[in-house]
Amino acid sequence: MFEHITASEIAGYAVGALLLSATISAPKIDSFISSSQRSSLGMCKRCGDLKLIACSKCKGSGLIKEGGPFNLIPIVGDNFDFGVKTKSPSSCANCRAKGHSSCPECSKSL
Ligand SMILES: [Zn+2]
Ligand SMILES: [Zn+2]
Repeated sequence: MFEHITASEIAGYAVGALLLSATISAPKIDSFISSSQRSSLGMCKRCGDLKLIACSKCKGSGLIKEGGPFNLIPIVGDNFDFGVKTKSPSSCANCRAKGHSSCPECSKSL
C-alpha cells in the first residue's frame, strides 16, 4: 500500500512541513522581539512612536483590490467570473486612501 511512496517523497514532505512551520513561527517571533524591544525603549508598542499605524484593511497601500486579500489565488468555482478581465482598485474607506491611520495608543495618551 505504501510501496509507491519513495524516500525522496518523504524527504519532500519533511522539508515542506519544516518550511511551513518556519513561515508560521517567524512573524510571531519577530513581533514578540520587536514589541519587547519597543517597550524597553519606552516607545509605543503599537506604532514604535511613529504615531501612525499601517491600515490593516489595505495593508498600507490605500487601495482595496476587489476580491479581498486572497485575490492572488484564482478561485475556480460557482463565483468565478469569466466576464471581468480587470478590476480597478478602489480607494480604502478604512483609512480614506491614506494607507495609514493615527495610532490609537498614542492618540488616547495625549
Ligand atoms: Zn486602508
Ligand atoms: Zn502609538
